[in-house]
Parts: sequence; structure tokens; C-alpha cells
Amino acid sequence: MFNDEEAEDDGENDVTEDDEGDMELPPRDFMDTNPTEVKGDPIFEGDILLTQSQWRAMREKKGIAYETSYWPDDSDGLPFCTLQICSHGMDHWMEHTCIKFQETTNINQPHLKYIYGGGCYSYIGMLNQNGQDISIGSGCDTLGIVAHEIGHAMGFFHEQSRPDRDDYVVINYENIQDNRESNFNKYSTNIINSHNIPYDYSSDMHYGSTGFSINGKTTITTKDYLAQTLIGQRDGLSHRDKHLANIMYKCIDKWLAKCGESQDPCQNGGYYGAGCACVCPSGTSGSYCETETGSYYGALQSSCNEKVTTEGTLTSPNHPNKYPNGPEGQCIKWIQAPECHVPKLTFSAFELYGKNPYCNGNSCCYFDALEIRTDNLNYGEVFCGTSITPGTSFTGTGREMVLYFRTKSDYYTGWSADLTFEKQEGCE
Ligand SMILES: [Zn+2]
Repeated sequence: MFNDEEAEDDGENDVTEDDEGDMELPPRDFMDTNPTEVKGDPIFEGDILLTQSQWRAMREKKGIAYETSYWPDDSDGLPFCTLQICSHGMDHWMEHTCIKFQETTNINQPHLKYIYGGGCYSYIGMLNQNGQDISIGSGCDTLGIVAHEIGHAMGFFHEQSRPDRDDYVVINYENIQDNRESNFNKYSTNIINSHNIPYDYSSDMHYGSTGFSINGKTTITTKDYLAQTLIGQRDGLSHRDKHLANIMYKCIDKWLAKCGESQDPCQNGGYYGAGCACVCPSGTSGSYCETETGSYYGALQSSCNEKVTTEGTLTSPNHPNKYPNGPEGQCIKWIQAPECHVPKLTFSAFELYGKNPYCNGNSCCYFDALEIRTDNLNYGEVFCGTSITPGTSFTGTGREMVLYFRTKSDYYTGWSADLTFEKQEGCE
């Protein structure tokens, strides 16, 4: 609930372009800069190129016959890419799977053709044709993005398209750009075979929180609120991404055979690796990953994430000094008041990077934002610049409230607010 009408977002208090003119603008997400079509083939879900026949199959929900979309054992990729980042991406895949990329001179066969296209995109799986484009264009030069596009070429869909995604995330269609809703489709088990690998918020194939947002509000909410900061990482393949690839391409079977083992002895999400030993996920230890020491996401959780059950002062990281950008600047404060009480948050400071018209042409808090969820815990009003005047209060309609702070810049000092728990009227 928004209590201070005067602070309502009218843009007047926003940091102007001039104020920020000497600062380097953080990069935009490639999902927002990619084209929607390449040479007549539609771009699907932001960065998946479909052939016309794949497009028809997807629309008719018949799906791609998976095994035939896998690359055969003896195939040669054609990693022609002048950017060093392409080799890094392929090296990353080769380091963690048994898939081999080799340059080939025989172009009369299926192979990958790296191009510097108008964005980052790829086909799903191997096409039965002589070569298929994988574009590593402007803004795509990070290991995690290249590994993501190679993931599509190897047969990976987006994580949030999995048949079981509704158990883990909520899609907020009201915040998605018009005609972009199909980017959030969920597919049946006929199309996506997850091979019993659990859903992974930290997958390199998962969309971020505000993908295709029309207003800067969250489009994908994690059902575990504290996991919100995990989605959309592009640092490289997650443990479960690697595990899935190694099942799809029968790498684990090959390694077991090579090492004289008959079955995978690894437990708790571990798998048998190239070094004749278990590759264990975070949160496990021991030769067979048999000891559970923490959670799979433990090492990735932002240190400023917390469940708040006591009154006090909440701040952005490092406040009153500048907050960091990237993963360190991502915070969820999940507030829970005692029974018959509601949380009330009163700001004493607020200074973030200002608005930018990158949300489908609408001015929104594209780079840095504080989303305050007061009634609906899946998303809320989004603030940036100086649009919250000190003294402004926000009160929850129920016992819970969620603050979601995200950053792509590190130029400002952030926010500070005092949390109190108010007696809820009529509650005994
Ligand atoms: Zn993608």
C-alpha cells in the first residue's frame, strides 16, 4: 500500500540524463536488444532461432523429436569464430562434458557456423542441414551468454519452459510486453525431457527476473522469494546444466566404462565424471557426495538476502556508501511480522540510478531498482532515481512484505528504511 501521495512517481525527482552523462551506462540485457526475426526465420523466446518447420511444430505442440536433434558422436562442429569468447564458450563446454568441438573443412554436413549477427541467438539442437548459424553478436561477449547459446545448439530449452516450472516460479503476465507472452510458454514432457534433473534457479538457461517486462516490474517470481536473486545468472553452466548435458550425450556412461565401473555410485545430485570420480554439487562432500553440508544454492545466495522477523533498520548493501553492481547488489528482504501485525517501512534515504526508456519504450527503472511488494507478494511498485522522498512509508496489507533490490550500476548510495510492526486492526 502506497501511503504518501506526494512521493508518487511523477518523474520530477528522477535523476536526469545530464546528471548521469559522465557515467558509463551499464550494458543492456541482450534479450532486450535482440532482433525478432532473422532472414525470415522467427526468433523465439528472445534468442532461439527456429526453422519454419520447427516453428510450425512448436505451434502445433508436436515438439522436436529429441534424439534426432542431438549431435552424433562423430560430428565435427565448425567453430569458425574470430572472437576469442567463442573458443572460451566451447572450452567451457568441453571442460565439463564429453562433447568435442573441432574445426572441420567438410561443410557438407551438419555443423555450427558462428556468425557475428544482430544479437545472440541459436537454433535448438542439431538441424539436418549443412551448417546452422549461431550468432554471437554485439553485447554477447561473455562466457555465460556464449555457453547459453551453445546450450540451445546442443538441445537445451530455457529452464522456465520446463514442464514442472509452475512448482518453482510464477509468471506475471500482467507485466509482460504485449504479444511477448509466448516467450513464457511451458512445454510438455513430449517436448522437454529433463531426465530427472531437478529444476535449477541457477541454470545458465533461466531467464532473469524482468525479462520482457513492460514496466520494470518482475515478470518471473521465484516461489521461494529468497531465490529471486538466483535467476538469470550468465556466469556459465550450472552443476545441473552440466549433469543434464552429460546424461543427454551419454558422457556419464562413457566415463563409467572407461573407468571400469558398471553404475554411477554418486549420490545427492552428483554424477560420475571424466576423472573417474564423482562431480559433486555445492552443499555436498565426500567421495560419493554422500554428506550433505548445505543447500545446492548456498554458495550463490547473495549475502544481503535475509528473512526479517524483527523491527530495525534495513539498508541496501554498504549503505551509506555506494552499493555494488551485479550479484553482490541483489537483495531480497522477506519481511514477516508477528501474528496480528503488519510491517511498516519508513524511508530515511533513497538514491538510485534513474529511469531509462528501455522497457519497450516506457520509462522504467531498467538498471537499478527497488521493488516493494506490499499486497501482492509476486511483484510490486518499482522505484529508482530519487523517487522515494525521505519520510515516505509503505505498509503491508498482510503480515508479509518483500523488498527486491537489484543493481546494474554502482554509482549511488542506495536506501535506508526503518521497519516497525503495527497492530493489525480487528485481528485478535
Ligand atoms: Zn536463450
